[in-house]
Amino acid sequence: EVVVETPAPAPAALATSVKISSADRLIFPESSVTKGDLADYYAAVAPIMLPWVARRPISLVRCPQGRARKCFFQKHDAGSFGAHVHQVPIKEKDGSTENYLWVDDADGLVACVQMGTIEFHGWGSSVGDLEKPDRLIFDLDPDEGLDFEATKKAAEHLKNQLAELGLTSFPLLSGGKGVHVVVPLTPKAEWPAVKSFADRFARALAQAEPDRFVATMSKAKRKGRIFIDWLRNQRGATAIMPYAARARAGAPVAAPVSWTELRRIETAAQWNVSAADELIKRASSRALTGWGVADQVLPDF
Ligand code: ATP
Ligand code: MN
Ligand code: MN
Repeated sequence: EVVVETPAPAPAALATSVKISSADRLIFPESSVTKGDLADYYAAVAPIMLPWVARRPISLVRCPQGRARKCFFQKHDAGSFGAHVHQVPIKEKDGSTENYLWVDDADGLVACVQMGTIEFHGWGSSVGDLEKPDRLIFDLDPDEGLDFEATKKAAEHLKNQLAELGLTSFPLLSGGKGVHVVVPLTPKAEWPAVKSFADRFARALAQAEPDRFVATMSKAKRKGRIFIDWLRNQRGATAIMPYAARARAGAPVAAPVSWTELRRIETAAQWNVSAADELIKRASSRALTGWGVADQVLPDF
């Protein structure tokens, strides 16, 4: 008797009740990914994506006619996304109040896809505790011409410097060019303190190695260097969410990895929307769903 070993089935996609119109529309023409495929991707990864994305204000990159046509970045909405996409009023710097979007289930993710969303970006705090970030992000933006090796080395360097301050961090492949070094925080300090820490930390690294790093946005100063973009750490700033697709050629996705894995990875666009099963298996077998870091607060610095 021949015993055929069947691989364990991937966790089932969360059921969604959202109807996708024009499901055959090509959203990523160069890789034949349709709107229906994208909806299926998000429904499939919802169980591993929602722990990161649920209940925080999100901004969306919407490309209703596909990534090759006009795309726009959307922060607010008054209700056109339907009942699965919730709103939270947030006071802006200028005193006005805007409705930001948030989701808490697969229906919410898929409802955004129905509205032409490709990318999900999120705040660093959640709707229940808006003023207290639960993570710090250093977005490493290499100058054109620097290879991924240089970006990886830089990420490791940040990891080690953060560790010297007692902070545990994790790499997130952006799905684009760079890596985000993410530090989970217990929501205690408010935005100004977190922003100030991020600013001082990034500047200290750039001062120590000015040929390698820059901590200011100026493109001119970036020549041959890596910009440590600490500006993701201010109230209202967003960063790409784990497992979000990117509106770039090949339909790549942002993916959290371990430091050990990062050493063997050769591109920030390692996975794409056809890799849902693999992403789910990795996440569940290595407990990468959520950072799983116990209480962590900003040190004196
Ligand atoms: P890469 O690795 O290629 O740099 P990334 O996601 O880090 O990918 P960046 O351009 O470095 O891309 O980061 C831009 C960040 O700024 C995004 O993560 C996004 O959340 C935020 N953002 C703010 N406003 C916009 C906007 N109008 N359009 C796109 N992104 C915006
Ligand atoms: Mn970046
Ligand atoms: Mn950036």
